[in-house]
Amino acid sequence: MSEVEKVLIVGGGIAGQTCAAALTRRGILCHVVELKDNFEIVGAGMYTQGNALRALLEIGVVEEIVKQGWHRDDDTTQVADSGGNVLARARYPRIAGPSVPAMVPISRRVLHKILHRAAQQAGVATRMGTTITSLMDIPSRGRVDVAFTDGTEDSYDLVVGADGIHSRVRDLSFGPQQPRYTGFVNWRVVLPKPAEVDIVTWMNGNGTTLGVIPISETELYLAGVIRQADNRWYEKHEILPIIRSTFAEYGGVGGQLVAQLDSRHDIVYTPIVEIELAPPWYRNRVVIVGDAAHASTPFWAQGASMAIEDVVLLAQLVEAGGPLSAILSQWMERRLSRCSWVQQGSRQTGEMLHEEGPGMREKMNSYVAAHFQQDVNDRYSRFAEAI
Ligand SMILES: Cc1cc2nc3c(=O)[nH]c(=O)nc-3n(C[C@H](O)[C@H](O)[C@H](O)COP(=O)(O)OP(=O)(O)OC[C@H]3O[C@@H](n4cnc5c(N)ncnc54)[C@H](O)[C@@H]3O)c2cc1C
Repeated sequence: MSEVEKVLIVGGGIAGQTCAAALTRRGILCHVVELKDNFEIVGAGMYTQGNALRALLEIGVVEEIVKQGWHRDDDTTQVADSGGNVLARARYPRIAGPSVPAMVPISRRVLHKILHRAAQQAGVATRMGTTITSLMDIPSRGRVDVAFTDGTEDSYDLVVGADGIHSRVRDLSFGPQQPRYTGFVNWRVVLPKPAEVDIVTWMNGNGTTLGVIPISETELYLAGVIRQADNRWYEKHEILPIIRSTFAEYGGVGGQLVAQLDSRHDIVYTPIVEIELAPPWYRNRVVIVGDAAHASTPFWAQGASMAIEDVVLLAQLVEAGGPLSAILSQWMERRLSRCSWVQQGSRQTGEMLHEEGPGMREKMNSYVAAHFQQDVNDRYSRFAEAI
């Protein structure tokens, strides 16, 4: 018998919708509140990795993700130099089972729709344009009393903070946390996919990288990373000239796509930050998941996978029952080393890939040519471990 029968999920993003679907399918009543008025998702595309797909099998969305996203049957990606010359290809293991691709890059908007529909079909309605104003989590009361911005109040057995990097739940329960700027900025844009683009390609430049990532049969996203000491904010019209000059050295298909960018394109610009909440990521009846607890750099493309694994494991442990304190302590034990490993490893990869200075690019390119497959094997054998 579980102490958890009624849950509030704050944040209707990737972690929030997955959490709602996973808990509701187990017979637990969930309420979801989302700050935004609508789900006009920004952010181009992203990879749904094999370990995320394995966790998502629990909420029955994998077939739809594979159908609406993009994959290669041979599960390979490639790395090239800034001229477009291929340095190495690597094959990724199928973590979610032999019939599920190793990874599925997909539009963020499409992924969000699929997850949201799964939560709706499980019976959860997301209250849009709403958030919490206060949380009263007094241990002796055995519940959390919550007040909302729409003037309503309610009580819950558990509150899940799935409200991203600037989490209000985290700040209310743990005190304010400042996201840490990592020294990198990212831009990305969705473009029509030329027929000849049939593989994910990352290209290495001088302190920059450029990714050409198909997300469907007709679209791809182009993503660039720049090492930048200060966390300056750019207005929309300032970004394009910076991209043009910083990525002018690129050739191949990546270079051609950069050259085609103009002011009509909807380019999303993001300074890359991390959150490193000191464990445990829970207090009494409030737990913090996903980016709100451990936002990481995107160099391993694993942030959403970690968020999804967080909430699927939480749902499994809640279903298994027992006192909430034991559920949360077991959850923490199983999430901490994996999420910390991703955060540190992704940051190190980013530092290595964007090393500047004489000879660094050549050194990087020869390292990648020699080690790409081995690095993938090492990393993904750990992703394949049970969560
Ligand atoms: C450039 C870049 C590329 C990336 N690429 C990948 C990739 O390829 N693969 C991958 O796995 N990950 C990737 N990530 C990471 C991934 O985007 C995040 O890890 C993931 O979105 C985290 O999900 P989340 O649900 O925890 O947070 P979010 O997706 O941020 O969702 C939080 C939700 O909470 C809502 N919210 C915020 N505040 C409140 C509030 N006070 N009340 C109610 N609701 C609130 C927000 O509106 C949002 O809907 C990338 C990240 C970046 C920056």
